[in-house]
Amino acid sequence: MKNRAKEMHPCFGAKTNRGRIHLPVSPVCNLECAFCSRKINRTENRPGVAATVITPQAAVEHVRRALVFCPEISVVGIAGPGDPLASDAAAETFKLVGKRFPHLLKCLSTNGLLLDERADELIALGLDTLTVTVNAVEPEIQTKINAGLVYHDGRYEGEEAARMLIRNQLAGIRKMAKAGILVKVNTVLINEINSAHIAHIAREVSEAGASLYNIIPLIPQHKLENCAEPTCMDLIAAREQAEKYIEVFRHCRHCRADAVGIPGQNDFADRIYAERFAFEETFSHG
Ligand code: SF4
Ligand code: SF4
Repeated sequence: MKNRAKEMHPCFGAKTNRGRIHLPVSPVCNLECAFCSRKINRTENRPGVAATVITPQAAVEHVRRALVFCPEISVVGIAGPGDPLASDAAAETFKLVGKRFPHLLKCLSTNGLLLDERADELIALGLDTLTVTVNAVEPEIQTKINAGLVYHDGRYEGEEAARMLIRNQLAGIRKMAKAGILVKVNTVLINEINSAHIAHIAREVSEAGASLYNIIPLIPQHKLENCAEPTCMDLIAAREQAEKYIEVFRHCRHCRADAVGIPGQNDFADRIYAERFAFEETFSHG
């Protein structure tokens, strides 16, 4: 399964031209990341935004049309706009799309809060590739990046929340990697907060079974609007730290949660989605 994913997935090292379609089926999120201007309530409160999120049933037709425009598409990815595990829409979509287009790889990107408890379900769905965003593996650092989270029926803050998130992310990665699923980890590089922590993250996620690591420079906004935007030199330094422990992915295009086409070459989203997201260009779990 791993080899097939490596050959066919543009974000996991495919050498030939391969495309992906992101299906924006997951509007809800359960974290409060300081750099993300997509809040849970904003998603729920703004009329019209919901209309731009498609249903699992509609997703099947979107994939069919996308393949007409871009036959190179080999991956169906679900990366948001919220967290794909915070609702059942992503799982339902993979079931429907998988039945109709069994040759396409299934790729999911998540913040990992619910990964440990939903891992068996994802494995049973036949997920091929997984991306987990891990911004810290030490609670004191994590608290500076994420103010709080909603887990089942409770809201948690501070180090308690941070410990819960880190534990669930690493346990989830372990389960998924053990089942043969190719796991990539994304980290948002924030000079003021986690730049000296990159090697530690890379080591922990590699030990848990992740095989690729992608460092995304912060886009300073929301609560982190006063942070510096990492320079190329900052990025190179962070990658050098990570490379001691894990293979580093260098071609990330920061795809939106509704991207369609070959990364860096074309994008057919305007033709596939009648109305693209009203969300600001901010962060994608991809
Ligand atoms: Fe949620 Fe992702 Fe935004 Fe964090 S970055 S609040 S996990 S959508
Ligand atoms: Fe999968 Fe992320 Fe690539 Fe999308 S950008 S296809 S979610 S790895």
